[in-house]
Amino acid sequence: MPEAPKKFLNPTEDYNLQDKNNKILHFIEEVTKNPDEVQKRVLAEILTRNAHVEYLQRHGLNGHTDRDTFKKMMPVIKYEDIQSDINRIANGDTSQILCSKPISEFLTSSGTSGGERKLMPTIEEELDRRSLLYSLLMPVMSQYVPGLDKGKGMYFLFIKSEAKTPGGLVARPVLTSYYKSSHFKQRPYDPYTNYTSPNETILCPDSYQSMYSQLLCGLCQNKEVLRVGAVFASGFIRAIRFLEKHWTLLCKDIASGTLNPQITDPSVREAVMKILKPDPKLASFIEAECGKASWHGIITRLWPNTKYVDVIVTGTMSQYIPTLEYYSNGLPQVCTMYASSECYFGVNLNPLCKPSEVSYTLIPTMGYFELLPVQRNNGINSNPLSVPKSLNEKEQQQLVDLADAKLGQEYELVVTTYAGLYRYRVGDVLRVASFKNKAPQFNFICRKNVVLSIDSDKTDEVELQNAVKNAVTHLVPFDATVTEYTSFADTTTIPGHYVLFWELSLNGTTPIPPSVFEDCCFTAEESLNSVYRQGRASDKSIGPLEIKIVEAGTFDKLMDYAISLGASINQYKTPRCVKFAPIVELLSTRVVSSYFSPKCPKWVPGHKQWCSID
Ligand code: AMP
Repeated sequence: MPEAPKKFLNPTEDYNLQDKNNKILHFIEEVTKNPDEVQKRVLAEILTRNAHVEYLQRHGLNGHTDRDTFKKMMPVIKYEDIQSDINRIANGDTSQILCSKPISEFLTSSGTSGGERKLMPTIEEELDRRSLLYSLLMPVMSQYVPGLDKGKGMYFLFIKSEAKTPGGLVARPVLTSYYKSSHFKQRPYDPYTNYTSPNETILCPDSYQSMYSQLLCGLCQNKEVLRVGAVFASGFIRAIRFLEKHWTLLCKDIASGTLNPQITDPSVREAVMKILKPDPKLASFIEAECGKASWHGIITRLWPNTKYVDVIVTGTMSQYIPTLEYYSNGLPQVCTMYASSECYFGVNLNPLCKPSEVSYTLIPTMGYFELLPVQRNNGINSNPLSVPKSLNEKEQQQLVDLADAKLGQEYELVVTTYAGLYRYRVGDVLRVASFKNKAPQFNFICRKNVVLSIDSDKTDEVELQNAVKNAVTHLVPFDATVTEYTSFADTTTIPGHYVLFWELSLNGTTPIPPSVFEDCCFTAEESLNSVYRQGRASDKSIGPLEIKIVEAGTFDKLMDYAISLGASINQYKTPRCVKFAPIVELLSTRVVSSYFSPKCPKWVPGHKQWCSID
C-alpha cells in the first residue's frame, strides 16, 4: 500500500531522506520498547476527552480514565451492540453519543451486518493517524531495498462510490475517504509518494477510465517503475487481466501519443496528456511482449526495474500467491500493513519475508488494543457458524493487554479508538509470532466466520445457507431438492467467482431446464450481502456465481475421504466450504453439469434506503 506524507515530522526545506527515515525508524523503536506505557497513555487520552459522551456515561464509567475501571465497567462489544447509537448518528443526531469530537463521516466496512456494510464512525484527526501509519512503510522498506527514492511506484488505486446517510453524513470506504482527502491529494513532495498514476486517474469515479489511464501512465513510464502494487492481490491481478484485454488499444495510444475517445473525463485526459508522448518504439516493445503466447513474468518484462509487488497476500488473499508468482516471475510479494475501517493497526517490519511468515507489529499509538484468547479445535479453525456471541463476565476478564500477549497464542483483536469505539471486537484472529522489542508481532490467521471471499467480500456460513435456501425454491416445481451442498472460491478465473456444488434428489419426471439452474444462481447472488453484490455489479471484481451439479453419491465419497484423513464418523458434518485441493478435485471430477448466473445482482450505493451521491 502506498504511504502518506510525513507531515508530522515537519520536513525542513533541506530535504534529507536518510534523516527522515531514521526519525521514523527511531519512532518505531521507541513505541515498541514500552508498548504498555504508550497504551496506558492512549487509553487515558481517549477516555479523558470523551469522559462526557453518552455511551461511557451509560455504562457508568463516570470520568474514570484508568485501565482497571475501564475493563470493569465497559462491555466487550460487537457492531450490533452499538447499532442503535450508530443509527442515531446516521439519522442526524449530533449530540456526543460515542465521541466528543464531531463525527466527520462514516467509513463503510467490508464487514456486513444484516447484509449491509457496517458503518464506522470517524473523526477528522483520524486522517493524521492513518497518514502516520502510511509514513512508516517506506522507511522500513528502504532498509531492505535501497534506492526506492530514485524511481516511481506503479500502484493501481481506486475510489468507490459513496452515499449520504439520512442525516447527511458521507458514508464511503476508508480508502476512498483517504484518496479524496487533502492528506493524499495535496501531499508535499516526497520521493516515496511519487506514483505513475496522477491523482486525477485515481480519483476518477468511472472504473474503466480509471484503470485504463493508470495502466497507460504506468506503461509510458515503464523504465522508472521500481515497485508495483495495489491494496489487495485481487486488485493487482484484475489490472493484469485488464491489460490482457486492452493492450492493443493502449499500444495505439502510446504509439500516437493521443488518448482514445473512450476516456471522456476531462481532468483525466488533461493529466494523462502531460505524461503521454508519441513513442512508437515503446508501443512496439509492449505489443511484442503482450502478443507472446505466455504471460509468464509479464510484470518484469514490461516493467524491468521492478523490485517487488506491494499487495496484501495474507488472510484470504493468500489464494492469489501462485498467480502473482507467475505474472511477476517470482518477485517478492510484500505485505506492508494491516488496517481496517475501525482503526489502522500495524506494519510489517520484515517486509521481504515469505508471505506465509508475514507478521504485523501493532503500533501502540494508533488505538488501545486488547486481545481475547481464542481456542481452535484440531488446528482447523473452529470457525464457521456465525453466531453473534456476546461475552459473559468471565470471558470478558480473559482479555489481555498488548504487552501481555503470549508467544504462539491466538487472539481476537479488540479495539478502543479515538473515534468512539470502545472494546470493539474487530473479528480478526491473530497469532503472536514474535516480538519487536516488547511489542508483539502477529500473523494474520483469519477473519472469524468467513467462508467465502474473492475480493473484499466476506460471506459467512449463515449468509451462504440463506442464499442456498432461497435459490432452491426454483427447484420446487420440479419436485427436486438439494440433498447436500458445499462451496468453493474459484480463483482460477479472473475475476474469481463463487462455486456451489449441489447434489440433487430428483423425484419429478420433467427434466430441469438450464434456465432454472441459472435462476437459482441469480437468486443466490441476490441473497448475498451488499459487498458481494457491489463486487459483482459495480466493481466487477467478482465473476458470476456458478452452480455445479455433482453425481449422486458424491458427498458420501467426500465423507469417506474425510474419514480416511482422520475425521470422526460420528462428528462428521459436510463442510460448507472447501479449500483443500484433493477435495475440490474429488468434487470437480463428479460434476455432471454447470450453470452461471446470467446477470448481475442488484446493488445500490449506501444502505438500501439512502440516496447515493454519484
Ligand atoms: P474493512 O473492514 O473493509 O476496512 O476491512 C478490514 C479487514 O480487512 C480487516 O479487519 C482484516 O480482516 C482485513 N485485512 C486488512 N488488512 C489485512 C492484511 N494485511 N492481511 C489480512 N487481512 C487484512
